[in-house]
Amino acid sequence: MSNEVKTYRKPLRIDPEFKNLVLKMPGGETLKICFQCGTCTSSCPIAQIIDTYRPNQLMRLAQFGLKDKVLSSKTIWLCAACATCVDRCPQGVEMASVLRVLKNLAVKEGCVPRVFKDFGSAILKTGFVYNIPKTRTKKREDAGLPPLSKTKIEDIKKLAEKTGFIDTIKGEESDDRQ
Ligand code: SF4
Ligand code: SF4
Repeated sequence: MSNEVKTYRKPLRIDPEFKNLVLKMPGGETLKICFQCGTCTSSCPIAQIIDTYRPNQLMRLAQFGLKDKVLSSKTIWLCAACATCVDRCPQGVEMASVLRVLKNLAVKEGCVPRVFKDFGSAILKTGFVYNIPKTRTKKREDAGLPPLSKTKIEDIKKLAEKTGFIDTIKGEESDDRQ
């Protein structure tokens, strides 16, 4: 008998209803017509610089109902929504919209990359996606630019509470499994 220790990968859970959920959401309707030609990936500027970003694969995972794998993947957040793939897809798949739907579903599951939570926290504190250092505002002054507009932080906080955005940015960070 062999002493070799065998390792097994955790089986992927398939949710047969996941595809229908995406198809029902505004922007997700064209998921079903992707036939995996790969044109989107070959024309995507993000895929050219990031090997792990393959939008056609994300479409396939979603079609197969691999909900957990898709929604916990940080790669769905890499889409720059440039729509190059939309222009070139022979099937008319609205890739950028489908990916937006997947991101919205990921948020509902609490799968939000840390960087976006940090952006959200900064908006609640300053009204901007990051803290703007004094050196930057000084450069604006020196260049003769007007000061940045003041943001009504209290209004943003109220909006964030009412929409549940505060809870979204408080949740646990997702794992990168892809
Ligand atoms: S180009 Fe369109 S049909 Fe081809 S893989 Fe991408 S989304 Fe699917
Ligand atoms: S919309 Fe997103 S997936 Fe499509 S080409 Fe642009 S970055 Fe790539």
